[in-house]
Amino acid sequence: MEIITEEQELLSRAGFNWREGGQGVRALVCEPLERDGFTNAFSTRAGGVSAFPQDALNLAGFDEDAAENIQENRRRFFKLLGGEWRLSACWQVHGPDVRVVRERADTRSEEERCDALTTRETGVLLGVKTADCVPVLLGDARTGACAAVHAGWRGTLAGIAARTLERMSAEFGTNPADVRAAIGPSARACCYEVGAEVIEAFKDKFPKAAAWFKTTREGHALADIQRANFDQLVGAGVEAMRVHVLPLCTMCRTDLFFSYRQEKKLHGRTGRLLSVIGKSKDE
Ligand SMILES: [Zn+2]
Repeated sequence: MEIITEEQELLSRAGFNWREGGQGVRALVCEPLERDGFTNAFSTRAGGVSAFPQDALNLAGFDEDAAENIQENRRRFFKLLGGEWRLSACWQVHGPDVRVVRERADTRSEEERCDALTTRETGVLLGVKTADCVPVLLGDARTGACAAVHAGWRGTLAGIAARTLERMSAEFGTNPADVRAAIGPSARACCYEVGAEVIEAFKDKFPKAAAWFKTTREGHALADIQRANFDQLVGAGVEAMRVHVLPLCTMCRTDLFFSYRQEKKLHGRTGRLLSVIGKSKDE
């Protein structure tokens, strides 16, 4: 008999399911996005070789882990996805810039500074690295274009998800009404406290921002950055029912995810999750 836990049901209602690979690797997949033809996955910390503190699937952060560990972890993660892929990632700087990946052999990859990637090439896996920040994956089944977005509070304030949609429209003729989005694991409103400067900056820029903050103490509030990205996508024309929000918090669930706030402070370092999307070249 299959035992369906409460968490499993919560995930499945949100459109996500677990995918297990070899050697204990586990990832979360947005199933509606997959049915639209987009291979996608949000990594967890399970099944790797890094000492965070052990067997951790650290997928980035070359200044905090050995390159051979990261390469082996990536090999295991990509194996779970099946098929042949070339990863296109970037040097993330919490900025507003979107890069278009025009060919499969894009060698600039991780050396170029930006926080969102978009492409219509097949066989390319777009990836963003996070530990508490919000990863957003976008797929446009009509044109075949997709995007991966790194949206921490700074990127969200800069409107990076909406800017990515604009870029997809300009480059590939994407209509936001055709787009499906998956908002991945991140620090959620249960844990993510920010200060007055952040709250005021959002309220100055977005009329809806009051709904994203819940006051905790003088000059501080819990912030819902997933919700801010949800509202930003819907405001840009994506249908609310096509935006899937993963109901798991990286700060609560350090058993599953890396958390910059929980681990970097305590241990001086943390691993990085990778969220990826692409269209297989076999289709
Ligand atoms: Zn939490």
